[in-house]
Amino acid sequence: MNKQAEIPKKAISFLTFKCQKCRTGDVFEHSIFNPLKFSATYENCPKCGHKFEEETGFFWASMYISYGFSAGLMLILGIISINYDFPLDYIYTIIIPIVLVLSPFSFRYSRMILLYFISKQDYDPNALKK
Ligand SMILES: [Zn+2]
Repeated sequence: MNKQAEIPKKAISFLTFKCQKCRTGDVFEHSIFNPLKFSATYENCPKCGHKFEEETGFFWASMYISYGFSAGLMLILGIISINYDFPLDYIYTIIIPIVLVLSPFSFRYSRMILLYFISKQDYDPNALKK
């Protein structure tokens, strides 16, 4: 098995919260299912040492992406509930909890979008050798 085959594809490493530079190191310190620590992000990649927050306030932009996720989800669920004439209580008891339960995913994937698509740092096959 050659070395190249061991490196996960970009989509797999994106979906599993891996470093964009080496694709093997974790970006987040704890499981996404840990409700108190799901947001803890490593300062540097544990495998290649890449600094995730390239400049001060780099992750602030992820708030806007996360806001877009939440607003989009609430809009879709709101349109569905209006279309099917669900009562207003439904919106408070179902939609808001759904958005809250999905907020760790929203938080993490907004940071991953920032790292993978906005950051100037891309995959480096020699990242682990340095
Ligand atoms: Zn790395």
